[in-house]
Amino acid sequence: MANPAALTIHGETPYVASAVENGDLLLWLTRRHIDATKRLALLAPAGSPHLAGFTGETSEYASRTLLLCPVDAGNAAALRVLLPWLQPQTFGLRTSAGFGDRLGLATPGHARAVRANPGIAPIFAQQSIRENVRTNRTAQQVLDAATWGVFEAGWHNGFGADGDHLKTTVDADVMVAAGYTFFTVDPGEYVNDAAHDARYPDLIATVDALPWTDLDSSPADLRARLLGRRFDIGIMDLAFDDESLARAAAKYGRAVAHAVRMHRHLAAVNRNRPWEMELSVDETETPTSHLEHLYIVTELRRLDVRWVSLAPRYVGRFEKGVDYIGNLDALRADLAGHAAIARTFGPYKLSLHSGSDKFSVYPLAVDITGGMVHLKTAGTSMLTAQQAIAMTDPALFRRLYALAFDRFAVDRASYHISADPARAPQLDRLADADLPAVVDQFDARQMLHVTFGSAIMRLGPEMQAALRTHEETHYTALEKHFNRHLSPFVRPR
Ligand SMILES: [Zn+2]
Repeated sequence: MANPAALTIHGETPYVASAVENGDLLLWLTRRHIDATKRLALLAPAGSPHLAGFTGETSEYASRTLLLCPVDAGNAAALRVLLPWLQPQTFGLRTSAGFGDRLGLATPGHARAVRANPGIAPIFAQQSIRENVRTNRTAQQVLDAATWGVFEAGWHNGFGADGDHLKTTVDADVMVAAGYTFFTVDPGEYVNDAAHDARYPDLIATVDALPWTDLDSSPADLRARLLGRRFDIGIMDLAFDDESLARAAAKYGRAVAHAVRMHRHLAAVNRNRPWEMELSVDETETPTSHLEHLYIVTELRRLDVRWVSLAPRYVGRFEKGVDYIGNLDALRADLAGHAAIARTFGPYKLSLHSGSDKFSVYPLAVDITGGMVHLKTAGTSMLTAQQAIAMTDPALFRRLYALAFDRFAVDRASYHISADPARAPQLDRLADADLPAVVDQFDARQMLHVTFGSAIMRLGPEMQAALRTHEETHYTALEKHFNRHLSPFVRPR
């Protein structure tokens, strides 16, 4: 560990945990008091070739060259070359957790929680194309923010980068170009929700019209392969009858074909880069039955698709930002079947999407999967940021909360949530000291959650400035919140 005194530049505070000695080169992150600007500092003998990839201000310091670099894209790229642990990696079947960071300031707080909960592989960079649009950021900016956050925190144990809910090969290309390693393929637009309760003759017609060439199969071939077989998944046997097979194929056949297309494309464009795939069908209208899960994975395996995790839509409601709504016994039975299929036909992890704040689910999920699980969270980090703002800048929080009331009716579209603004605490009756608790109130929390894009578009710079000024409050709040998320997933070794 470097000596803090050696890292202290006049008028700045060093992030001591970031310091790395690499041969005759010393690198660390430093923060200017006057405006909270962060810069990368590199100290090396004059003419050191290590300085070549970086751009910044050069000066003489203790008879060596000091280079102070802005935390921009070029310097992030140079840093990833120099320090391999800043390059996104893959984690295979390790228990893992994804952290969306919509403001680009949360990774150091996330890293603290990961450090306190050993054995959980972190995916610090994680954003979908839709989130990038709503937050006005690029995939590269998301990855660079995670890079700087990981460097600041001194986290050397690796992290993944998830291009979330990729719907097209063009979406995938954006993430590949930015250096992502984890690709969440979402064929949800190809799921036929109407098949869920369609009549049998209609199902047959739908199955006959599937893209059989893409599926390298035929209706007769499908029936020959899957009808009349008993699939032993350890805790029970599963078997299709004519109708359940037709329903599964009608509902998911096109989605399977699209997942195959996406997988082949990812394999081609990633070539020798490490990469891994998740399949998600969580954003569909109806739960994924065990037989439908079985149909999907036997078809994908037949077509040589490989994946590390799969997100079915489970029974009950996984609403944004709040605990599970539904019957936990029913969920336990549902998870048990999905986990048994995942063990038998993989193994691969079950992925919990909209996984934040589901505190009643985590012990169940760990118990049933034996840790073969990926926890995906996103918006809860922004809620934690808003809570940190409620603690430190009440006036700004009041503007955010007023915006949530204004925008809720529009922004809630595309979300399955049950918030009612009439039940949320009303702004004019709240004292400043009451504001942090507002973020924990069910209705207010979901209103703040679904209006994140509006908040960033209208008040993003103000939020970022407040969080930079009160950085320690923000990081501490994140660490505490994610300790609650991660600790149930830590298993005795
Ligand atoms: Zn999802």
